[in-house]
Amino acid sequence: MSQTMLAAEPKKRQEESNAYAIAVRQLEAAAHYLNLDRSLLEVLKHPRRELTVNFPVKMDDGSVRVFTGYRVHHNPARGPAKGGIRYHPEVTLDETRALAMWMTWKCAVVNIPYSGAKGGVVCDPKRLSVHELENLTRRYITEISIMIGPESDIPAPDVGTNPQVMAWIMDTYSMHKGYTVPAVVTGKPIAIGGSEGRLEATGRGVCVVAHEAAKMLGFTLEGARVAIQGFGNVGSATAKLMHQAGAKVVAVSDVRGGIYNPNGLDIPSLLHCAGRDGCLQAYRDAELITNEQLLELDCDILVPAALHGVITARNAPNIKARIVVEAANGPVTPDADEILDEMGVLVVPDILANAGGVIVSYFEWVQDLQAFFWEEEEVNAKLEKAMRKSFAHVVQTAEQNKVNLRMGAYIIGVKRVAEATTIRGIYP
Ligand code: GLU
Repeated sequence: MSQTMLAAEPKKRQEESNAYAIAVRQLEAAAHYLNLDRSLLEVLKHPRRELTVNFPVKMDDGSVRVFTGYRVHHNPARGPAKGGIRYHPEVTLDETRALAMWMTWKCAVVNIPYSGAKGGVVCDPKRLSVHELENLTRRYITEISIMIGPESDIPAPDVGTNPQVMAWIMDTYSMHKGYTVPAVVTGKPIAIGGSEGRLEATGRGVCVVAHEAAKMLGFTLEGARVAIQGFGNVGSATAKLMHQAGAKVVAVSDVRGGIYNPNGLDIPSLLHCAGRDGCLQAYRDAELITNEQLLELDCDILVPAALHGVITARNAPNIKARIVVEAANGPVTPDADEILDEMGVLVVPDILANAGGVIVSYFEWVQDLQAFFWEEEEVNAKLEKAMRKSFAHVVQTAEQNKVNLRMGAYIIGVKRVAEATTIRGIYP
């Protein structure tokens, strides 16, 4: 191996694990296809606003702990900022930047009038009591209140947060205002202005694109073998809807590991304990596997629905699925993408595949603003239509440009944002 290759190796590995470096690399590749102006590319590479907050929280034992949180707005051209809030021990500013940028492209690909944002707090929500989690949420929201609002930035759930956390966000913001502001956050419980269908929206969107992708390759979800990494909100909803569509869900996993049965798992019974520690491990009729083994299982559709960077150049050659649907944000690194492409694996990219969540968040925001709520059938039908339309547009763009679906999606997303940025011009 040459000296230069040796020197390049650690940098490459660093890039592989740095989500923001990956996001910029993906943007640069799209800019190349779009022949984007250099200065415009420079604008799009940088998040517009970043806030870091270090704030104290009273713990149950009487002590005070300082937590670090972030909120990042990427590019404001197409509308208010929109994106989830993540509670995870490995949250970093760079990860939040990447997730905010991916939100920008995602909203543009499915053509909803938002720009991208993301937030996060470095914490392990599983190790906090309900009371501590509420204190942390209320104080974090107060700290970032200069950025959020129904017209400026609308948070939502992400990894480690849920409808209850969204309820505390809505309440905290409303207390400061002196009146109730449901439209400040989405993914709320129905009782306080949440939307029917929001809880399962990301999973429902994942199933719609999986169905369309399977159709492209000449098979259906009926009887297809599906492996799902992650059994949180997105993973469990995907499992439920895949099962309902007649697919055979052969494996699911959580942070502790996975379970596998080539004849299919009893998803309805697993859904009863979803979210509870040890739920999957207590299941009798399956083999225990690791999260790494799950990714390499012999199956038709693989759905990584956990964290970013799980399919890399190292394990991509071992992937056996015909289709990978990115329910998580950023699960396949660019190097792995190239390998999967060469192997003929069809990858449905995150900014399309998991857009169902933000699409129904948009519906929730619209319903809150007009104080007029829709039936679940209406929400689901509108979601499915939006997903199918976006999928067809991405496939068509990819074919026209002779690129894969990820680049097809990037071409649409980046082009729409670049156009909005150019038309608005630079102030002053
Ligand atoms: N956190 C989700 C995502 O990454 C949902 C964002 C939203 O609904 O605003 O797409």
